[in-house]
Amino acid sequence: MLQIETVLCRAGKMDNYSYILYSEDKKNCIVIDPSETVPIVDRLQSLGLVPNYILNTHHHFDHTDSNVELKNLYGAKVVANNADAYRIPGFDIGLGVGKKYRIANGIIEIKKAEEDFDFEVIDVSAHTQGHVVYYFPKTKALFTGDTLFNLCVGGLFEGDPEQMFEALQKIKKLPDDVLFYPGHEYTFGGASVAYNYWGGNGDIIKYLQIAKERLQKGLPAGPFSLGEEKKCNPYLMANSKEELFNLF
Ligand code: FE
Ligand code: ZN
Repeated sequence: MLQIETVLCRAGKMDNYSYILYSEDKKNCIVIDPSETVPIVDRLQSLGLVPNYILNTHHHFDHTDSNVELKNLYGAKVVANNADAYRIPGFDIGLGVGKKYRIANGIIEIKKAEEDFDFEVIDVSAHTQGHVVYYFPKTKALFTGDTLFNLCVGGLFEGDPEQMFEALQKIKKLPDDVLFYPGHEYTFGGASVAYNYWGGNGDIIKYLQIAKERLQKGLPAGPFSLGEEKKCNPYLMANSKEELFNLF
């Protein structure tokens, strides 16, 4: 089974989440959106891991700042959407959107997504052009960067609400039992919009209670499943472009 470690970076400032994924035998290890070197290296060391690859969801500095340092420390290769090659620091390998890949024996290759470490690259251009999410079907995990957060979505830096609507439809098509891992701890930032939207209905009260208890224990608020998110996140609930436009 694929192991997933969440590392809080830029704590108390931007509250980024970087993720370390590794196989049980520890031969395969990737870091998604390395935001800050020290907390990531500390975690890698305590787990005895050497990353083979770094994956970026998009080019923003708070998701790519440690690319080059991790590359220099571990010899890891930087992997991202090929369309973002020109603005990803330390870029090595380009991925095609809509394609499926496998990481095995420290090598990345195009494969049907059916093993633990297999993933699909889904284009969700809106927060930035070329933003992708990484979907691991066997593990039932989705890494959403700055597209989907708990109870909200990322700001539209390079896209428009129409593109965000298209992006969210792709995420909504994935199975309800997939857990999603966002690029920031923004749960209680997004909560007020969602709370007002739903008039404080039962599902969102339960959601916020779970999030609060986890945060109080020093854990991330998530992961929540897409099924839970579809019941509470008004941006994900919007059934038309017009409904979504009204939330921005
Ligand atoms: Fe961003
Ligand atoms: Zn970000």
